[in-house]
Parts: sequence; structure tokens; C-alpha cells
Amino acid sequence: MSIIVQKFGGSSVANIERLELVADHIIREKEKGNQVVVVVSAQGKTTDKLITEEKEITDEPDKREHDVLVSTGEQITIAKLSMLLIKKGYKSVSLTGWQIPIITNSEYNNGRIRYIHNKTIEDYLNSDNIVVVAGFQGVDENGNITTLGRGGSDTTAVALAASLKAERCDIYTDVDGVFTSDPRIVKNVKQLSNVSYEEMLEMSSMGAKVLHNRCVEIGQKYNVPIYVKSTFEKESVGTLVSKNNLEDLVISGVTKDDYISRITIVGLENKIGKTYELFKILSNNRINVDVIVQSFGEYITKDIAFTVKMNDLNKTLQVLNENKDKIGAKDILHTENLSKVSIIGVGIANKPGVATGMFEALYENNINMHMITTSEIKISVLVNSNMADLAVKAIHEKFID
Ligand code: ASP
Ligand code: MG
Repeated sequence: MSIIVQKFGGSSVANIERLELVADHIIREKEKGNQVVVVVSAQGKTTDKLITEEKEITDEPDKREHDVLVSTGEQITIAKLSMLLIKKGYKSVSLTGWQIPIITNSEYNNGRIRYIHNKTIEDYLNSDNIVVVAGFQGVDENGNITTLGRGGSDTTAVALAASLKAERCDIYTDVDGVFTSDPRIVKNVKQLSNVSYEEMLEMSSMGAKVLHNRCVEIGQKYNVPIYVKSTFEKESVGTLVSKNNLEDLVISGVTKDDYISRITIVGLENKIGKTYELFKILSNNRINVDVIVQSFGEYITKDIAFTVKMNDLNKTLQVLNENKDKIGAKDILHTENLSKVSIIGVGIANKPGVATGMFEALYENNINMHMITTSEIKISVLVNSNMADLAVKAIHEKFID
């Protein structure tokens, strides 16, 4: 008998009509002779609502109590769904994260799963129950409730699938699957039937917010096939996220990431260790740097430009100015409102012409590139944010339309 893990997000469980649809998907898997574990999110906007209520008390809630509060949404969903399945004549039991338990570290609000005790779930499955699990929550070794970060139910589902050695994990959501770009920007987006973990990671970190990034990382680590499917269609084909990309498209997506700023350090002394010193100051201050470009450095000085998220800009400038003498730079400049536009696909680095095609698409639309970076599976360029949608459209048209 195979174990199937199914996950249903907030909009899929928002009301009783939708819970009925969810029950149909669950029962269909059960009737095929599978053992079914279901992971659910809080209903609709429940988690947001709890956070709003919390703000009536304080803007800086105690982190432990925050988790105790925001984890309650999921408990409502598991009870309702389990009741519904029982009413329909099935054996079902609901379990919270701490009942299983799903053990996490003690980082409140952003807990990481250490391990999962399978026994409780397995016993219930073996006595023919459909097991309904509260997503997004766990418990630390001292018995404190923790949560996994917003959107964390995906991570619960894939971690359970890995731990229980499930055949696959189906993530049901309100879209049909993973697309080549954001349908709000590009008209002719195509649904991907297959995408690799690596590509999916790039797509989600670049703003295609279909799956929680950490769930893809766990899927990759334990080789769990993840299907992204629509709750609202009976037999949605969906997109398979797995080891291989069987799609013969070279390019699997074009994405953009907004709210980026670039900082340029002008006239840095061209001496060994200077670059290291600069980035050590940044990392000591927990500033995340993304794209980095260093000029040739044939002369006495060199220039270094790098990007940070806009909401880190002020802090970064402050840290740099405080250390200006130590860094020994002539000038510190910055540009705001930039976007990173990326083209993603396995083996892009080995496909001649992708970079040229991308630059051509931008040139044809008079879009200036501020920085360029490449990796095995992507090429990214930095453009002014007001040109970013046009850039995505033009690149998508060139490679995918
Ligand atoms: N309910 C949580 C949230 O809204 C977890 C989730 O939906 O995955 O972030
Ligand atoms: Mg989600």
C-alpha cells in the first residue's frame, strides 16, 4: 500500500463548500487503495486575521506567544475536515504538530524541522484512518509550540512525505500548476508539465510564489516527487517537480524580483584582502548581498558594485558610512528601484545563444542593463523597475511564445 500526502492551502479550505471539494480529492485517493495523510493550512485569511488581532495588543509580541497564537488557525481546519470525512463514512483523525510530534529547533516564528516521529501517524494509517495534520506548526524539544514561517504548510507536507517515505506529495492550490511566467505580466504563459527541483527553487526565490522554498529543498534532498495541482479541477494534470526536467523546453521560466537597490563602492584600494574586508563588515551586520560585480582593478583603485534588498538599503549605507575609513573608499553611491529579471532553465550555461537572445530582446525594447550574472541554470539582469514587466514580456516572447 502506498502512502500519499496531500496538502491543501488556505484558499482551498476557506469555507464549507471548498472543504467538500477537498474531501472529494481525499476520498478519491483513499478509494484507490492508498493510505492518505492530509496537511492543511488555516482557512482563508485566518492567519492574517490573528496577526491583526495580535497588533491590538502589541507590535512586538513575545515570539513564543506569537507562535501559540498563529498556530491555532490550522487546528480549526483539521478538526472540521476530519469531522467531515467521518460524516462521509470514513475513519479519520486530526493531529496537531505537537501530538505527532514534529520536532523543530527552538527558533520561534521560523522553526526548522529536525525530525518527525512517524509512529503515531503510521498506527492510525494502519488502522485505516485518513490522518489530517495541521500544517505550519511543530514543537521544540522542550515542548514549546513553534511555527515554520509564513507559507510553511507546504514544508510540513513535503517533510511528512519524506519521513513517511510516501510515494508522492500533492500540493493542491488555486492555480493549475507552475507556469513559465507570471500570468499577470505575460499573456501567453505556458503550464510546465515537469520542472526540476533546481529550476523550481530559482523560480520561487525569484518571485514565482507557488511553493514555499524550503519544501522544494526538502523534496530535492529526499527525492520526493511533488505535484502542484488545482483544487478546483477534478483531474488537474498539474506540474511535477522532481529530479528530472523531462520538458523539452530549454527555458522553463522568466521571472522578476522587485525592490532591489545597487550600491557602488568607488575607488577602493586595489590591494589583496580589501574585498574580503568589505564583505566581512556586511556579513557581520547580517546584510544579505546578492549580485556582485568588481571592476578590472588594473589600476591603483577598483570599483565594486553589489545589490541588496531595498528594505536593507538604509542599514547597509549606515554600516558602510560608519566604516568608511576602514574600507578606504573614495565614494559610496546607490541606485534604488531596480528589478532582477531572470531566465531559468537546466543547462542554460551550456546553451549558446541564450544570453545573446536575452540581450537582444532587451536591446530591441530599449532597456538598459545595469548588471548581469549567470549560473548553471539562470541568467539574470538588473534593470530599472519601471522597465521590468516589459523586459519579462520581451524575453518570454523571444524564447517561449
Ligand atoms: N497559515 C500559515 C500562513 O498563512 C501557513 C500556510 O498557509 O502555509 O502563513
Ligand atoms: Mg502557500
